[in-house]
Amino acid sequence: MLTQTPVKDIICQQREFFATGKTKSVEWRIEQLKRLKQGILDDKEAIINAVKADLGRPDFEAYFEIAAISEINYALKHIKSWSKPKKVSTSIDQFPSSAQIYPEPLGVILIISPWNYPFSLLISPLVGAIAAGNCAILKPSEIAAHTSGAIAKMIEKTFDSPYIAVVEGGVEASQALLAEKFDHIFFTGGTAVGKIIMAAAAKHLTPVTLELGGKSPCIIDADVDLKYAAKRITWGKYLNAGQTCIAPDYLLADSRIKSDLLTEIKKCVNDFYGGDPFQSPDYARIISRRHLERLQPLLKDGKIVVGGECNPEEKYIAPTVIDGVDWDSPVMAEEIFGPILPVLEYTDLNVAIAEINARPKPLALYFFSKDKQKQELVLQQTSSGGVSINDTIMQVGVTDLPFGGVGDSGIGSYHGKASFDTFSHYKSVLKKGLWFDQSWRYPPYKDKLSLI
Ligand code: NAD
Repeated sequence: MLTQTPVKDIICQQREFFATGKTKSVEWRIEQLKRLKQGILDDKEAIINAVKADLGRPDFEAYFEIAAISEINYALKHIKSWSKPKKVSTSIDQFPSSAQIYPEPLGVILIISPWNYPFSLLISPLVGAIAAGNCAILKPSEIAAHTSGAIAKMIEKTFDSPYIAVVEGGVEASQALLAEKFDHIFFTGGTAVGKIIMAAAAKHLTPVTLELGGKSPCIIDADVDLKYAAKRITWGKYLNAGQTCIAPDYLLADSRIKSDLLTEIKKCVNDFYGGDPFQSPDYARIISRRHLERLQPLLKDGKIVVGGECNPEEKYIAPTVIDGVDWDSPVMAEEIFGPILPVLEYTDLNVAIAEINARPKPLALYFFSKDKQKQELVLQQTSSGGVSINDTIMQVGVTDLPFGGVGDSGIGSYHGKASFDTFSHYKSVLKKGLWFDQSWRYPPYKDKLSLI
């Protein structure tokens, strides 16, 4: 743990620094974004190795963590136009006037992140906080301990703590931070902890962004190219061993193609990870023994049609597909967040939609179909944080698409311009001229109603 200064003191120093107005200069923010980019590049190997040590990630997937660099590049390209006040029109009864919306930074931000993408889920929101002109305290996940340490080192080398600081630690550290007043809290994690964060924030009337989880359905229509669908589902589910917030949690397959789909997924698992995925250099591990023990009982549910092997010592669970489950099965009770894919079937798409709508709103929803009318039906009849038609996960890579949940899967969004918006207050400003005055609003009001 690098930062030994008490939390109260860091917040106090950040408030003092924010009050100097230094962070309001757009040029200064640009400089800080460039520093962050350089800091990440300088420590790239250490960061990637830390992620690999925490999650047993293959190199290719570990590199996803430094995707924050593309967020920085995007912010650098647009920050000047984002920061400019925007004119809006005024009505004639305001004459002479002009009205503008001024983006202004919020102040001191708290960012709390989870362990599954332990670097990018802390640093991507930081990009938005810096671009919008804020100070920030970062609380990485204690469960991805190597990455937490690498982040602390990188941030301490790059920034002074009265501007950007890291507070490492677990629930206690988090709760010590939450006892203080911030100007915004950006939290990524589970829905249960999200409620704790929101309750703590409410005591100070602190606004929150909550990036939460949930069970993201993946519907597969009969009118589909099964080979491509299976490839994209298999990749999206078993990437990072299923520990991805927008991974397809379960499949809802048209009963006419379910059996063929399962055959294709089986082939894909074999093509991607070989006959023994334990030996594959391209397959990650479960973050901890505790998390594995949460997943292990789910392997007893239904009928395993792919995988099912589990090696607790090595924190390994094979890419697994489970058939023969229904809506009431234990595996369907909560977000799985691991490499276990239950498969349900439907005969009527409207009934499948009704089942989804009877449950908490998911973070992502996937629909595979060539039929444009059915695509539109699913889009119109369901609500979720985001949707990808005929793919999984890839929606997160479109910088211009705001990323976030709805209902139980979250509040607010970020990425690209949405990040700048999240960490800004849009101040409404009316400017009046003093060279002329309209008298319509002043008493006596006699006969003036007839003018409206
Ligand atoms: P978590 O909610 O257990 O922990 C997240 C953070 O909160 C950690 O930093 C942890 O130290 C802190 N925390 C935990 N308990 C706390 C408490 N009682 N009080 C205060 N702080 C506390 O989540 P996790 O297990 O690290 O991550 C998994 C969850 O995160 C899944 O539900 C997943 O869907 C979700 N997630 C969501 C997104 C998204 O973008 N929406 C991304 C990744 C993960």
